[in-house]
Amino acid sequence: MIRVRIPPSPTGLLHIGTARTALYNYLFARHEKGQIVFRSEDTDKERSKKEYEDDIVHGLNLLGITWDEGPYRQSERTENYKKYLKELLKKNTAYYCFCSKERLDKMREEQTAKKFPTRYDGACSTLDPKASAARVKAGESAVIRLRVIQDQELRFKDLIRGETVFSSKEFDDFVIARRLDDCLYNFTVVVDDHDMKITHVIRGEDHISNTPKQILIYRAFGWDIPEFAHLPLILNEDRTKMSKRKNKVSLNDYLAEGYLPEAIVNFLALVGWSHPEGKEILSMDELIVAFDLSRVHHGGAIFDIKKLDWINGEYIKKAIQEDVDGFFKKYFKFFEGKIPTQNTDLIKKILKDPDFEGRFKKLSDIASELRVFFEALPAYSPSLILNEKFKVTPEIAKTVFQKAIEAVRDIDWDVGDSAKTKVLSDAMMALVPALGLKNGQVLWPIRAALSGAERSPNFATLMVYLGKEETLKRLEFALGKL
Ligand code: GLU
Repeated sequence: MIRVRIPPSPTGLLHIGTARTALYNYLFARHEKGQIVFRSEDTDKERSKKEYEDDIVHGLNLLGITWDEGPYRQSERTENYKKYLKELLKKNTAYYCFCSKERLDKMREEQTAKKFPTRYDGACSTLDPKASAARVKAGESAVIRLRVIQDQELRFKDLIRGETVFSSKEFDDFVIARRLDDCLYNFTVVVDDHDMKITHVIRGEDHISNTPKQILIYRAFGWDIPEFAHLPLILNEDRTKMSKRKNKVSLNDYLAEGYLPEAIVNFLALVGWSHPEGKEILSMDELIVAFDLSRVHHGGAIFDIKKLDWINGEYIKKAIQEDVDGFFKKYFKFFEGKIPTQNTDLIKKILKDPDFEGRFKKLSDIASELRVFFEALPAYSPSLILNEKFKVTPEIAKTVFQKAIEAVRDIDWDVGDSAKTKVLSDAMMALVPALGLKNGQVLWPIRAALSGAERSPNFATLMVYLGKEETLKRLEFALGKL
């Protein structure tokens, strides 16, 4: 049975890179009909917080990433680690080291000055284990180091990067625990992955240098080594390592901006992996079917925010077309306070209007695009109306507004929306020949007066949803400005 793990360290809010690693584990396991274990790696007592674990669990579940076992917490497994540490000490494949910080610092300095690699010289490796145990029992403090047998080849076949080889020469007798009850990452990970019967370790490339150390620990126990797959790092568009300065990194930030969980999942799947037929819009179920580690890229994976916007826009478009009621209900919390949610019927009508189709990349765009219908226009200057390119002079604008106001008053507004759109559109277009003007000279000032903005949906759509009264008010206001 294939078993993978999702082992975040709860030292911060759910990071988008952690979400991608979790997603790849999820897709791989579900594709293989395997199992997933969630493990909170909270051994860093100062930085780990339960609220971060909660945020990570909540965020992953929101994305649809779930597991079959867990959460396990490393902080609750101390006794277990102790048992295994004792086993290594007993086998003498690990030993107590009493070297002082001063001694180690001095040694490191000397090695650096000679341009040697910095490594532990093994001073405590020859101490009698019984004598060391007695010293520790008497209260002396000591760390525990793994005895690294030199001249072994540390070879593993990475499922993404292929054959990978390190030499044990690169490693000294490294510390695996600060005390019997305070183990370090490489040790706890190996023990847990062994105990939890993990078959595939799929994690970020930043962990690749830990893998040979972990293999050394597996060997010290005589345990089977799992398969490894190291995922490419996520990069900013300029190919530097993804950082807070260039991109938002917490999932919450993306949700707050109005990215849909399904779209984030779809996008993250494509940050470092591609569909065999190049498909870009893929649901979780489709991803599970298609996912394969052999199609994970080797090089860095670019976090292309424009692509995320595009994917998100596609999901919003589809959700609105398929079930505007469900869509609105689902994201009600997002819209609350941003648009007058008591006008639900009108909002839904606007969302479904073909003129708005594809205009929304994010939920926040809906809020900003709809503002024009529900809020007083922002102060704008007459220059918005007097468009130079279209040759709209003050005289022309004045005449256009006067005639438009008359037409809007005369029209029968008591018809269905699409009939209304047509009547209003025809009436405004009729002003073009009637006044001997060009299209832009008539339509630009009208649209600008209704929206107060350089860009907006077209004038007839604005009129229909603003209604007669508000349309007249905005046209009159603009006329008054000239
Ligand atoms: N807790 C580690 C991290 O969040 C997990 C590393 C691993 O997958 O082995 O980076």
